[in-house]
Amino acid sequence: MAETPFFPAWAALEAAVEQHRAGIDQHPALPTTTTEEIREHLSTNYKFGIPVDAKHLIEDVASLLRDGMVHTTHARYFGLFNPDIQPIAVAADAIVAAFNPQLAAYSHAPGPNEIERHTLDLFRRALALPEGGSATFTSGGSEANHSALIAALTAKVSDYAETGASGRPTMYASAEAHHSLVKMAHACGIGRRAVRVVPVDANLAMDPAAFRRIVTDDRAAGASPFMVVGTAGTTSAGAIDPLPAIAGIAAEEGLWFHVDAAWGGAACLSSRLRPLLDGIERADSVTIDAHKWLSVPMGCGMFFCRDAAHTSAAFGIQTAYMPSPVEAPDPYLNTLQWSRRHIGLKLFMTLAALGLGEVTARIEHMADVADRLAFGLRAAGWRVVHHSPLAVVTFTHPEVVDLDSVLQHVYREGGAWISKTVLTGHGAALRACVTNHRTSAADADALVEILERAVDQVPRTELIEPTPLAD
Ligand SMILES: *Cc1c(COP(=O)(O)O)cnc(C)c1O
Repeated sequence: MAETPFFPAWAALEAAVEQHRAGIDQHPALPTTTTEEIREHLSTNYKFGIPVDAKHLIEDVASLLRDGMVHTTHARYFGLFNPDIQPIAVAADAIVAAFNPQLAAYSHAPGPNEIERHTLDLFRRALALPEGGSATFTSGGSEANHSALIAALTAKVSDYAETGASGRPTMYASAEAHHSLVKMAHACGIGRRAVRVVPVDANLAMDPAAFRRIVTDDRAAGASPFMVVGTAGTTSAGAIDPLPAIAGIAAEEGLWFHVDAAWGGAACLSSRLRPLLDGIERADSVTIDAHKWLSVPMGCGMFFCRDAAHTSAAFGIQTAYMPSPVEAPDPYLNTLQWSRRHIGLKLFMTLAALGLGEVTARIEHMADVADRLAFGLRAAGWRVVHHSPLAVVTFTHPEVVDLDSVLQHVYREGGAWISKTVLTGHGAALRACVTNHRTSAADADALVEILERAVDQVPRTELIEPTPLAD
């Protein structure tokens, strides 16, 4: 080591991270400070006048985060799609920050760009997409969906690239699809109403017959259908749209077929779960979020496009100031971002350090724990509304009208975190997702007990016995 280390406070950083990780599962899963307390602390201690000592700063920030966030890495965080993380992925993010490679132009960072290509190709093959496409890391699923929309509009709507949307381009997604699609339709200038909502069946999966009918009606009414999004693992319930049927209709109707597999896409690595994604290989483009089910820190999304010509048509540009193109494609000419962080290193290092066998075993373990949870909930009198093979369980209680009061009891106890959602055709439901590979069968059983305690404390309706028919 050099005489003067680059960062003398490494030891403080290491101590803060080790201490946090050692205590995480015993710590409340929810924030313990109030917004007023946090603001007061910041305005008193951080006027940015006198420099703060790095060791002190690290310790103070660690304490602010420890008390001021929902702990997504907690073993009893049955939450939104936020996983626990790997130590090696933390190391990866630190190396990226320290070396600060710029991936925009290939020639600026051949090493990092090849690491990303190599990693993305593993997923391309698992998805069974052909060679000759393009793939990129994104900030997350929203950017990947945005990329899909731009590529689809450029490919399917004439003049979109040069003069913007004309006519009435319309796209199709199920009632349970992610709302980033609506934001991105707005951002792309086709308007939020361009997203046509296709009804779902009782299993919360898109109804393909309804999809076809709406496309026909829209054409008759003068709209220009250009894209359909199938979701493989909906955000609320982990439902899977019928991808082969949607692919078939998309082909007949000449629509771009995007699969949003932000959460569920990780299942492509498991031979047991991969059949759930059948039909994804027919997609024109695919979204997968590594920062959801693959245990890497945010943000780490992936966008795959079947034909690289479409991404270069969507994102190509000419400049005088960027380095001249070399033999490999320049990311800034084929993707939405310009300056580009080495996002993919944390996934590469996680796969390398754990091995594919372990990564896959963890995904299957999380699905198994969710199965156990669904079983335990049913045994305790809950009604499971939807039980996804992708580790998401949504449920209600026949005697509880106000699910919010159950949620408040769970939060007040503080030892676990779940959420609430509304499912098309079913109404409000509680939602538990196993996102942490350390979450065990015992944690699932503990959640059932926490929920039973909560139910004991909230107002309940009598179960109404069906009245016998008078004769
Ligand atoms: C989370 C999610 C997204 C958005 O991804 P971000 O990484 O949060 O931007 C898109 N689609 C689905 C199905 C999701 O679950």
